[in-house]
Amino acid sequence: MVFLGGPGTGKGTQAKRLSDRFGFVALSSGHLLRIEVDAGSDLGREAEPYLKSGALVPDVVITGVMLSAIEKLSGEQGIILDGFPRTVPQATALDAGLATAGRPIDAAIDFQMEDGLIVRRITGRRSCNRCGATYNIDFLPPKATEICDVCSERLIQRADDREDVVVARLATYRAQTAPLVTYYSDRGLLHTVDASVAADDVTAAIVGVVEMLDRSE
Ligand code: AMP
Repeated sequence: MVFLGGPGTGKGTQAKRLSDRFGFVALSSGHLLRIEVDAGSDLGREAEPYLKSGALVPDVVITGVMLSAIEKLSGEQGIILDGFPRTVPQATALDAGLATAGRPIDAAIDFQMEDGLIVRRITGRRSCNRCGATYNIDFLPPKATEICDVCSERLIQRADDREDVVVARLATYRAQTAPLVTYYSDRGLLHTVDASVAADDVTAAIVGVVEMLDRSE
């Protein structure tokens, strides 16, 4: 499954929930890139300026990262792609890579939310650098203040979750990623969820899609 939707619409939170429930593997392109940036690898040094400014890293770079991450997984495991593809060239490269691996995309879920709420959600977001879990100080607080429920790491505010960068990320999303809604709709794969409701209700909507796909297999 591919998770589409603007920054801060809850894709990462839902990818984790769906993975826990169905045993899928969630691959977050942003999380994989942040690991490389933190490690100071060649890839991380190349990607860092893009992450800082809210621009997209070049297609060829992220496509290589994601296709090799997919290749390492067994063909039996269901995969959620969170944050990839983000452009039409990435989507066509993904289709080609998956065709080679004989693994079709079953669904693309579009997380819909209006921009004002996105800004409020992202600026309240706190993230765990170790395991990638995300929280929100207003909407989804951790059990202990600023501490990750999963691995007890101290939570941080991502540098690109500041309001000025969020506005740039939203503009990038509208210009480069939103066309993927049509791309997947044209292929009969698009499912839209209202991402502004409570996280449990968003989960229920996506679970409904997964169960429907299971029934039609
Ligand atoms: P995210 O955690 O998904 O919000 O991604 C954080 C940042 O990583 C983005 O603002 C981009 O700079 C970069 N990034 C993540 N996924 C992609 C992608 N599919 N294509 C290009 N850049 C990406």
